[in-house]
This record gives sequence, structure tokens and C-alpha cells, in this order.
Amino acid sequence: MSLIELKIAALAGDGIGPEVMREAIKVLRAVEKKFEIAFQITEGAVGWAGIDASGQALPDETLALCRRSDSILFGSVGLPDRDPSIPKEQRPERAALLRLRKEFGLFANLRPVRLHKDLGHTCPLQPDRQSGGIDMLVVRELTGGMYFGQPKLTQEVTEGGVTFQRAIDTMVYTTPEIERIAHVAFKAAQSRRKKVTSIDKANVLENGVLWREVVTRVSRNYPDVCLEHLFVDNGAMQLILKPGQFDVMLCENMFGDILSDEAAALAGSLGMLPSASLGATSGQRTFGFYEPAGGTAPDIAGKNLANPIAQILSTALMLRYSFGLNAAADAIENAVSQAISSGLRTGDIYTPTDSSARRVGTIEMGSAIASGI
Ligand code: NAD
Repeated sequence: MSLIELKIAALAGDGIGPEVMREAIKVLRAVEKKFEIAFQITEGAVGWAGIDASGQALPDETLALCRRSDSILFGSVGLPDRDPSIPKEQRPERAALLRLRKEFGLFANLRPVRLHKDLGHTCPLQPDRQSGGIDMLVVRELTGGMYFGQPKLTQEVTEGGVTFQRAIDTMVYTTPEIERIAHVAFKAAQSRRKKVTSIDKANVLENGVLWREVVTRVSRNYPDVCLEHLFVDNGAMQLILKPGQFDVMLCENMFGDILSDEAAALAGSLGMLPSASLGATSGQRTFGFYEPAGGTAPDIAGKNLANPIAQILSTALMLRYSFGLNAAADAIENAVSQAISSGLRTGDIYTPTDSSARRVGTIEMGSAIASGI
């Protein structure tokens, strides 16, 4: 078998970013030993680390590194207490994250939510609501809809001698935008339990009617995948009542923003949740941006307390969705599952009432997962 060589830009960022990135790279090195893959991992400064190094949240050389890489493995950026005089547009959350999303045309956000059977205590739902397990993937359209549609403005209006303000946001979707994200959802479902639940508000919104029509049409290319439609209000309710019914949940931008956070809460801790944002596909590869769903967690940074699992699972998403390396991705996910089954717990998923659980730090958790590959 020939060696697959992949160029990864590793941008750890701020707070717990460097600690959890170190463990993710440790796991990728273990994957290299087991599979015929070579990772060329180059680290770049981003966030406050970028500002400190060269005055920009996304330094030019980091952007150049990303452009010559096959994918970006990202930590997180932003430290709320750092220099409040720096305007929002130059702060890392906007200047780095939004810029990267735009630069690489990241139009699909994928958030898997899986509750490990031994971590039921971290889920806010009663055990009977968790029955059948929680293992779903939220696929969210990321570049269209209400967040970007024009016109978008606040204006002063005078009517009947009374002056007031009016805010306008516009929800716009085109057929190609819906088709593109629907294909992502159906393809993802093919490697899962083969069910897509499409979320819309077709009973009220024109966008919802078009969304439903286009998704139904795209589904005909995937006869092995079962499609169902839910109105967004019912979808929000069903997530809490019977989350086990969902495999892939397909949402437009705003509904996905809300429902992906609702779904995330079911997994108990932000430290368990990876996320992928996908851009264009060329040949067998899809450019992607992979990061933990949580932020920089300044409250626990630098103390070996952070859960590295979200960052480690981000590497599994990268191997699966950017490079189609499903066996290597499975190996990472199984090693995470094994570490939890063996009782290892970082503080965020630890409970003293579980006598088989052992509290460990970031480094020990990362090492256990790496040796489980
Ligand atoms: P946060 O996600 O950083 O932290 C919220 C809570 O979750 C904290 O109690 C934290 O300790 C905990 N937590 C998060 N990740 C964890 C992990 N891996 N292990 C254990 N516990 C974990 O959210 P916040 O405090 O609102 O934001 C802090 C900073 O992060 C802000 O500047 C914010 O803008 C930024 N942020 C960045 C991103 C990103 O880079 N994509 C995302 C969200 C927030």
C-alpha cells in the first residue's frame, strides 16, 4: 500500500487550545504508526497568540500556511479579559474565525452528538429519555439564510406622525445552496444509520417550502437513505422527548445554530463535542476546518484540567470527512470510547458517585487514547 501524505495546519490558539491540541497531535502520531498515513503537521499562531506574535489575530503567514495545507485543525480563540480597548472587528473571534470561514468557503457545519453509555449522568435528560442511546449528527448550512441575506438594516420610519425604528433581516436560499448542503447530509447518513431528518418551517416560510422541495428531490439520489421532514418547532421538542430517533438532522443556518446547541447539551460536556466545517471538494479530498465545539475555557486553562476529547474527536472527523480515511477515524473514536469505558474521566465528566471512575488530567487522558489506537 502506498503512503498517504497529508498536510495539516494546526492552529492551537488561546486558553486551553495549546493543551488539547498537544494531545490531538499525540493521537495523530499514534494513527501514523498504525496506518499507512504520514501527517505533515505545521503549527501556526492564531488568536491572541497571533496578536502577540505579529499584531494580527490571523497573521499573514498563518493564512498562507492554511492555504498550502489539506485541512485545518483548530483549537479555539478569544480571551474575554484581554485588552477591552481592541474593537470587535480586530478581536480573534471575528478577525480569525470569520475570516477563515469566508476565506475557505466553509458552507457546511457538522456536529456529531454522541452520549457514551457510561456518561448518562452528564446528560440533562432522565435515563428513560436516553433509552436507545443518543448518537446523531447535526448538519447545518453555514453561509446562507437569515444571517447573510440582504437587505439587512435598521431604519428610521415615520408613520401617522410617529417615528420609530424598524429592523430588517432577509431570509434567502437558492436551489444550489440547498442542494449542496443536502448532498452533504445524505452522504453522511450513508456512512451512519441511513436516516435524514430535514428541518424547516414550510407551513409559514417560502424558504421552508423551497427547502422541503429541493431536499426531497436530492433524496432521490440516495435510495438507501430514509428521509423525513419535521417543522423546526416540533424538531426542537422531539430532541428533548426522544433524541434516539435522530441520525442526521439537516438544518438551514439559523435553525441549525439553535438546534445544534440544543443537541450539544444532550452530550453533557462541551469537552466531548467536536465540530467540522467543510468547504469545496476536489477529487477525493474536501477542505475542512476541524475544532472543538467549546471555547478557550480560560477558567481552567494551563492547569491540565481540560478534556482533550473534543479536540481528539475533531481529528477523527478530519480523517473521515476530508480524506475518506474511515478506518483511521473509527480507530480514534473507538480509542476514545475505550478510555471512557475503562473509567478515565476529566473533571467535566467526573462524578464521585461512580466508584469505577478515575479522575485524570488532560495529558493522561490524551496518552490513554493514543495508546488505545
Ligand atoms: P467556553 O466554551 O470556553 O467555556 C464554557 C464552560 O465550558 C467553562 O466552564 C469551561 O471550563 C467549560 N469547557 C469548555 N471546554 C472544555 C473542555 N475541553 N474541558 C472541560 N471543560 C470545558 O465558553 P466561554 O467561557 O463563554 O468563552 C471563553 C472564550 O472562548 C471567549 O473569548 C469566547 O469568545 C471564546 N470562544 C471561542 C470559540 C472558538 O474559538 N470557536 C468558541 C466559543 C467561545
